[in-house]
Amino acid sequence: MSTPLSATDIVRLDREHVWHPYAKLPATTDCIPIASAEGVHLHIATDDQDSREQQSLVDGMSSWWTAVHGYNHPALNAALHEQIDRMSHVMFGGLTHAPAVQLATALAAKCPGLPHVFFSDSGSVSIEVAQKMAQQYWYNKGEPDRSQFLTIKGGYHGDTWHCMSVSDPVNGMHHLFSNTLRPQIFCERPVPTFDQDCTDAHIQPFADLLAQHHHRIAAVILEPIVQGAGGMRFYSPAYLTRIRQLCTEHDHTLLIADEIATGFGRTGRYWACQHADIVPDIQCVGKALTGGYLSLAATLTTREVATTFAQGPAGVLMHGPTFMGNPLACAVALRSMELLDTYWETAVPAIEEQLRVELEPCRESPFVRDVRVLGAIGVVEMKEAVDMRKIQPAIVKEGVWLRPFGKLLYTMPPYIIQRDQLRKITRAMVNISRRRWW
Ligand SMILES: *Cc1c(COP(=O)(O)O)cnc(C)c1O
Repeated sequence: MSTPLSATDIVRLDREHVWHPYAKLPATTDCIPIASAEGVHLHIATDDQDSREQQSLVDGMSSWWTAVHGYNHPALNAALHEQIDRMSHVMFGGLTHAPAVQLATALAAKCPGLPHVFFSDSGSVSIEVAQKMAQQYWYNKGEPDRSQFLTIKGGYHGDTWHCMSVSDPVNGMHHLFSNTLRPQIFCERPVPTFDQDCTDAHIQPFADLLAQHHHRIAAVILEPIVQGAGGMRFYSPAYLTRIRQLCTEHDHTLLIADEIATGFGRTGRYWACQHADIVPDIQCVGKALTGGYLSLAATLTTREVATTFAQGPAGVLMHGPTFMGNPLACAVALRSMELLDTYWETAVPAIEEQLRVELEPCRESPFVRDVRVLGAIGVVEMKEAVDMRKIQPAIVKEGVWLRPFGKLLYTMPPYIIQRDQLRKITRAMVNISRRRWW
């Protein structure tokens, strides 16, 4: 056993060696060392043996949409203990096992019309797989020119190359990689908000692009209803319904729904596509799939798409991650989905209602542009981008964990959060939104 590190050493060695997401090296600010986490609490590591009360933060981020049941959940821990004593991993080429088969069956049951499941290790990879699937589908059908993707601006689909190519061209770092990124087709972002209808004028720009380019488009790819990391915007379900219709009308252009952030109840429906009553041809899931325990994602598709692979020249879908269908990840995901079914339908609307009431006062601040809530997502959009070096310590001082980006102060708490705990988060957001952070 290696000796436990002191909190001071964690921070020091982190600074020396470890690269964090979208961060400089060496770091310009210290990360907060976390010793353990339980329920909605993140416990901060400390070297002060005498301090009786360990400082902890109420988590408002669910570790980037993942930890929907909070941390250290007994049922999820048990699922992992049971599985690890049988086997942690076996290769998926030529072998199979109960956890993967059960999880695929459970996912297919939640996605009527999408019975075929491809497992991968992260959201970005599941998007790459969806893109390959779409492109190979047209190749299989003798239309190899249909290889581009049409999407809407303001999207985010992951950080690997093909994912980046369909993420927002401005905030998606395209300028840094412009000479190596595959050019894709972008439509202006949807105008109608969640509560608005979609008029002919609203859908026209999208309809025009599809009409003009569908002979070279493999698929339309988008985040249904909620655009997450690209700006936390909620758009009209009617807009999505129209897109589904248009795709079908234009030579059955495939529709890829990226439900990686929105899936598993976050927006108030199990899948965000259900707000619009549509079924995509390909759907990606990840993030909350394992309840935040391990990295796992899946790409689901229709029988129609899957069966073309038997006829196509390649004969198979050309992808196969080493850790595909990892039994530990599948076992914990299965238990997480079972757990979710027992309470999300009451928990998420209760969080939504409380966020609506308690974030309302943010509107009175002269520094706030907009406040919006959907399902268990609460967003306070400031008028300018916040200075992280100032705002982050102020948030932690409030006893909560929130991680703003750009102009956005937002929360997507674990579904198990209690009223008083959520109250602490909303109170912090109200207090923070009353000050200027730029
Ligand atoms: C996070 C995210 C991804 C990428 O998932 P990773 O697991 O980080 O690779 C893709 N699409 C959406 C909508 C996401 O929120």
